[in-house]
Amino acid sequence: MPDQSTVVNGLMQPRPLTIAHVLERAERLHAHKLVTTADVERLTYAEVADHTRRLATALDHLDVPVGARVGTFASNSRRHLELYLAVPATKRVLHSINIRLSAEHLEYIADHAEDDVVFVDRALLPRIWPSADRLPRVRYWVVLPDGSDEAIPVDPRVLDYDELVSSAPFTGSFEDAFTLADENLASGLCYTSGTTGPPKGVLYSHRSTVLHCLGTLAAGLIGICESDVVMPIVPMFHANAWGLPYGAIMAGASLVLPGASAEPAHLLRLMEAERVTVAGAVPTVWTSLVPELPSYDLSATRFLLGGGSAIAPALSETYRAVIGVPITHSWGMTEISPVGTIGGTRTRHRDATEDERVAVRAAQGQPLPLVNVRVVDVETGRELPRDGRAVGELQVAGPWVAGGYFRVDAAESFTADGWLRTGDLATLDAEGYLRLVDRIKDLIKSGGEWISSVELEAAIVSHPDVVEVAVVARPDPRWVERPVAYVVVRDGSTTTAEDLLRHITPMVAKWWLPDEFVFLDSLPKTGTGKLSKTTLRDSARIA
Ligand code: ADP
Repeated sequence: MPDQSTVVNGLMQPRPLTIAHVLERAERLHAHKLVTTADVERLTYAEVADHTRRLATALDHLDVPVGARVGTFASNSRRHLELYLAVPATKRVLHSINIRLSAEHLEYIADHAEDDVVFVDRALLPRIWPSADRLPRVRYWVVLPDGSDEAIPVDPRVLDYDELVSSAPFTGSFEDAFTLADENLASGLCYTSGTTGPPKGVLYSHRSTVLHCLGTLAAGLIGICESDVVMPIVPMFHANAWGLPYGAIMAGASLVLPGASAEPAHLLRLMEAERVTVAGAVPTVWTSLVPELPSYDLSATRFLLGGGSAIAPALSETYRAVIGVPITHSWGMTEISPVGTIGGTRTRHRDATEDERVAVRAAQGQPLPLVNVRVVDVETGRELPRDGRAVGELQVAGPWVAGGYFRVDAAESFTADGWLRTGDLATLDAEGYLRLVDRIKDLIKSGGEWISSVELEAAIVSHPDVVEVAVVARPDPRWVERPVAYVVVRDGSTTTAEDLLRHITPMVAKWWLPDEFVFLDSLPKTGTGKLSKTTLRDSARIA
């Protein structure tokens, strides 16, 4: 070991990485680029920056302390974007709240975060206002006009966003005001879904947000550039809309924010009309668009991002067949800002057969630069070989990976050497491709062996009549657990359980075949639009 006392430091400026810079740069370089909200309005970056500065002043006028949490309860819109920028740029913390939470969870989260002000879409007032008296720490409820005509409560705590912003003066440059700030200051707060205990807050910093942004912008990954038109369908309350809004702004790309409606016709019309090139959504949303895909001109699309749950190869292949662009698979977590890996083929797969390329696209992909992943034996904690076969718990480390949770001790979520335990079971291959086997809690334990619900679902949904499927465990006196498949089939389909069994028999081991297929009109979804296996497990237990 050489003598370490002779190390030499670099002499570069320790300028902090800040979100204020991201906005300042977009305004200076790309002032004419557009932020479009649904069919409602179209503003330039210059106008958004002007509102953002005024909003920053308005937060001062409301005496929102530095470091205070500013809640948002809002769909994807230009005003929400202004909050994404003004709140962290002024050293406050943006707490985006999932609008589909139950009153109980929402109150828990807003109380735990100690939100000082909450900004809420007018259309969402009926969902949150009944909780106002149980959230005495929230001093103001600021209503974001969204074209709806929900009654606005007459209450001194209730303010109007547009009035607040237009009456606040425009004040100078963020960057000047912010240059000396510490890049480790908190910028945002998102709570995990709480499927395994109470929701936990992930507190992002300016540094982690900017680095995540740069990581996802890297060419060959999501690779957003100035000529892109980016549409985050994934909600801005779902893990920062996967970094797409900040990424688009940093690249100078135009943004299309779809507003409150998740209607397939609305989303597809926007993609067509705005010539969207990059869009991101969870698989349940991509599935919902399939029937109407052929009716729209999506020829501008070059990149579709999917994650949050596994993208079945059949779904991605449908997009490739209909619009010529597969869905690029990404794995992530709220705790990882959220993007950890990006899938798709690389030059090495150029000569591969089409089937092999489909299999590569089905993987969750390679880690982003600066993200380290490893797979460890659940029992011994020892790292497993990267051979594409050894299954273990996936652990992650990196500059945009959580190192703790906001105001809770969750030591069990981290290893002794500081890696995040993801609760996912996965394999890694020699080239670093991650393949998710299942969430540990979704795995089905049958007769001492494990069945992957994800693989079974991929097999079942490859049947042409199946629209959606979720496989969960049902307690079984002999085998401990057995798989049950909940299936939604196309309108008018006469597909039976026997047809589905016949279809998947060549694809999976015999003992993996579900004990029962339950046909439903729709499947229950979580607040972020993923299939809610907890709800289905409860019904399987009762059935
Ligand atoms: P929650 O799903 O609990 O609301 P997150 O959005 O943070 O919270 O979800 C993270 C989890 O989602 C991961 O740990 C993993 O189980 C699952 N997930 C995310 N992306 C993928 C993917 N591409 N394929 C399979 N599972 C995924």
